[in-house]
Amino acid sequence: MSPHVLILGGTTEARRLAAALAARPGIRITTSLAGRVSRPGALDGEVRVGGFGGPEGLAAWLREEGVDAVVDATHPFAATITANAAAATAAARVPLLVLRRPGWQPGPGDRWHPVPSLEAAAAALPALGPRVFLTTGRLGLAAFAGLTELRFLVRSVEPPEPPLPPHTHVLLARGPFTVADETALLREHRVDVLVTKDSGGAATSAKLTAARDLGLPVVVVRRPPLPEGVTALPDVPVLLARLDEVLARAR
Ligand code: NAP
Repeated sequence: MSPHVLILGGTTEARRLAAALAARPGIRITTSLAGRVSRPGALDGEVRVGGFGGPEGLAAWLREEGVDAVVDATHPFAATITANAAAATAAARVPLLVLRRPGWQPGPGDRWHPVPSLEAAAAALPALGPRVFLTTGRLGLAAFAGLTELRFLVRSVEPPEPPLPPHTHVLLARGPFTVADETALLREHRVDVLVTKDSGGAATSAKLTAARDLGLPVVVVRRPPLPEGVTALPDVPVLLARLDEVLARAR
């Protein structure tokens, strides 16, 4: 029987991985999506949508569907599904590989303020300027809702979920973005400070270059830690090589 690989998805890397595996004969691939995005786009292989019902539900799914390996290719900030994947694969005795694009690194000229959470980012803002470009996604903006004196430009793919700060302008857009466009946006809205998660990757890194060029401070929310004993692989080629070893062992 063909080996069955479950990809926990929702990222560009997960999409690339599904495409790479689909090009190989004799592998069954299922990508799992949380169902947060209304038009997620076409994916190679099978697709299932929605939560599993915690680690127990995921472990049961792995057994029922005869999964031979799980690849957690979720976003670096999707900490719950990553913890669930670690627990469920341990319980069902299925190998787990974690694909995580490396985080961003500050360079000369960057004025970064690393913080551990959205709440800490909100606490840092009043000292950094009145006009904020907030690019942390559509969820969790309640952390900023009490900042009634500041003006927010919020950019997200889908409309942000309230409560929002009272002075908020929403911009719906999906990357990739260019440095020229990001610079123009920062200038147009007279932004004083940028807030971002350390998502990593090239699609949304232009805002960091634009902020550096304009001498603006950037509040960077650090990634949540990986579950204990879990190590991440940085890109699709490295992941594929490791997956080959894992599937060969499982045969
Ligand atoms: P999360 O907080 O880690 O997960 C919350 C719950 O959503 C999980 O317990 C699980 O429900 C369900 N879930 C999450 N990812 C799933 C998947 N790939 N397949 C099936 N169920 C999933 O996740 P999140 O931060 O809300 O992110 C949700 C999805 O959006 C992820 O797939 C992630 O890759 C993508 N995403 C997240 C961000 C971000 O900044 N967090 C950014 C871009 C994309 P059950 O417990 O019921 O299984």
